[in-house]
Amino acid sequence: MRHPLSVRTLRRALALLLSPLSAFAVDVAAPMPAYEKILKIDVHSHIFENVPAIHTLFARINVRTINVCVPGGDGQLPLMDRIGFELYRAHPQLYPVTTTFDLLTRHEPDYATRTIAWLDRAFDRGAVAVKIWKEVGLELKTRDGQFLLPDDPLFDPIYAHLARRGIPLHAHLAEPIDAWLPLDKDSNHYTYYSQNPQWHLYGKPEYPSHAAIIAARDNIMKKHPTLVVVGAHLGSLEHDLDGIADRLVRYPNFHIEVAARTRNLTRHPPDKVRALFQKFPDRIMYGVDAGWMPHRRDTPPTDAQRQGHVNSLELRYRADWDYYAGTGEITYNNRRVQALHLPPDILEKFYHANAERIFKLNAAWARTP
Ligand SMILES: [Zn+2]
Repeated sequence: MRHPLSVRTLRRALALLLSPLSAFAVDVAAPMPAYEKILKIDVHSHIFENVPAIHTLFARINVRTINVCVPGGDGQLPLMDRIGFELYRAHPQLYPVTTTFDLLTRHEPDYATRTIAWLDRAFDRGAVAVKIWKEVGLELKTRDGQFLLPDDPLFDPIYAHLARRGIPLHAHLAEPIDAWLPLDKDSNHYTYYSQNPQWHLYGKPEYPSHAAIIAARDNIMKKHPTLVVVGAHLGSLEHDLDGIADRLVRYPNFHIEVAARTRNLTRHPPDKVRALFQKFPDRIMYGVDAGWMPHRRDTPPTDAQRQGHVNSLELRYRADWDYYAGTGEITYNNRRVQALHLPPDILEKFYHANAERIFKLNAAWARTP
């Protein structure tokens, strides 16, 4: 096996390290792609119902998504897998699948072998990536009652297999730093932590720290340097753009997506956010993290609720575009913020080219049912 860190990679990493995030200027001369015209790949959705109004919206505004099965620890995986792949077979262009793996049987014999066999069957059916969720690190326990961390040796054969097959690990590990801080009405995550107190870890010293889980995530990349890792939600470093840049330099196979964290980006100085995109144009992907999961409800949704979801999705895609591509001051999540006005070549990479390359989407789209 060739060593993953070539001299060229190291040199490029060194050059990136030495260039400050503020050293990049905006190219305002090139024409901007039109919103409807540019292909927008949302790499992080949870759409688990065949809703024609969503397909119509996607066709009209030129969106495709990657549909993510998660989690692996609540017993719903077989159902999610069935619905996700049915949707993919019906609309391979719109809904490629990111699968996940069972965590309930992790203490049983041959866990890694069985998991690898399950994943291989999912890849044969066209799955483009594998999700790992924050339940690893913050909920599930080892045999000795410790929190199971994502770099636990239990997972090493699985990560090694993904690396061998060139399949990305889509990693939502840890939480925003706000989970470890007192509830703050001004935080982007106030509503979530008020409504989901089980994930609000302030004053609960028995849980691993944010830093411990991020270090375990980074350790996966140290142990498996050829594994492609996509850090969901800005790699849970939404409060620390320098920390993101540092990982992108240190781990050449690390990437991030912005799902549910564009609102966090809007709180940083726009020049600094723009500089991150300009320094790492090939490493950042678009995503929203919209969930439509009727199988988790007690009663089926109404058509009015479906349409409400479609309407809010459309508003989200448009608002995001106004932030990334627009100019001047805009309103985002009820706050006045400065739009990024990213240059056209970066927008093309961010909105689709990076996802097409990293998730090998041409092969997924080309599959016929
Ligand atoms: Zn999600």
